[in-house]
Parts: sequence; C-alpha cells; structure tokens
Amino acid sequence: MEDNHIYQYSLLNALMDGVSESGVTVKKFLSRGNQGLGTFVRMDGELLSLDGKVYQLQSGGRVREANLEDQIPFGVTTNFVPQVTKQVSLDSKDAIDEELDQFNAHSTNLFMTYRITGRFEKIKARTVKGQEYKGQPLSELGDKQFVDIYENIEGTIVGFRSPRSWQGFTVAGEHLHFLSVDHNAGGHVLELVASGVSMGMATASNVHIELPTSDDFNNAKLISDDAGIKKVEG
Ligand SMILES: [Zn+2]
Repeated sequence: MEDNHIYQYSLLNALMDGVSESGVTVKKFLSRGNQGLGTFVRMDGELLSLDGKVYQLQSGGRVREANLEDQIPFGVTTNFVPQVTKQVSLDSKDAIDEELDQFNAHSTNLFMTYRITGRFEKIKARTVKGQEYKGQPLSELGDKQFVDIYENIEGTIVGFRSPRSWQGFTVAGEHLHFLSVDHNAGGHVLELVASGVSMGMATASNVHIELPTSDDFNNAKLISDDAGIKKVEG
C-alpha cells in the first residue's frame, strides 16, 4: 500500500450483525500497513497492529502476539508516515480532535490517522469479551466488556478519525486503541489524559475496502445503527 492509504477489511455493520467467523489473515493485514486496529474471530478482544506485529488485547488485560495465520473479521490499517509530529497535551479524547483540526482544517470529510507515544497520566480502556454464540451482534457485547483504568503508563495509541457520513461502513469519528510499552496492557480507548506526549498525524484521502465473500456476510442486513454504534464504540 502507498503511504497513508487506508486498507479496511469488511464493514463495521457486518460486525454489528455478528459476522466474525473468518476474515483476512494477519499476514495479509500486516502487508497492508504498519499500524492498525480491529478485532479477532468471534470478537475475542481488541486488535492493535504496530510496526510489523499484530497484538490481541484480551479481556482481563492480557496481551498476546497474534500468529500470521490468525484471521481478522474487521480491521483497518495504514502505512502511516506522519505529515507532522508535535508534542501535545491532551486533557480528553476531544483534545485529539482539536489537534487534528489544527493540523488540517479541511479534513471534515476526509480520514485522519495518528500515532501518540509517551507516558499517559490516565487511560481508560475496554476489551470486548467475545461472542457467546455464533452471530451474536456486537451491540450485545458492549454490555459485557472489560473496562480498566491505567495510570502513569507508557505506551502507544494508534488512531483513526473517519467522516460522519461513513458511520456503519466504519466507526465515524475517533477510534483509537492503546498498547503499553511493556505489552502488558491495552484496549479500545474510552478516555485519556496526557501531558507532553508525541503525536504524529496524517491526512488520508484514499481508502481501499475489501469485503468478505462468506455466506454470513451475504446474509447480513448491514443496516446502520448510529445509536448502537455510539454505545459500543464510543
Ligand atoms: Zn475499537
């Protein structure tokens, strides 16, 4: 993939409909970018991809390095090359938006990608526990997620901001995952506070989406549920 082009496998709506039995291999996903996020088969935990490796952030705070043959039923990645890098202080997730808007005031309907590294004063992150039965919708799993708060923790955030009109194709707005530098903690970021962290940013205007060819995907309704997505991916 060219620098700062986005590769996405499947649609968020498919995940919302519970389509997660199979997907693109970790090996192929890694060939499409150097940083990404997503989930695993049966939505078992959160995925973070960083510099040639894919990590499974499991419920309960465990982190496992994925095998090249593992499959990713929904994922987004990019060959990230920052167009600007600066030291920032972030008092909330909203502050990420402000930094992105300062960098590019014409990005409302474009994608933005970023990487934040350093020591975070606080990270509130969740990990989905996984489906209890085949086809269980993601919206149901939101009630059973594992949430933890980490304080004074060093690590990396990989994030994407997608336009509002793409809700359902992907997560509209901010979507970011965290991995600690010692690989002992991580998850889908709900809240954060940091002062003096490094933030690299890039605008992305090319998106490649690969759709599953499975029966499950063919039979899914794929109707956008804005409130449901916000509840589970907020
Ligand atoms: Zn997530």
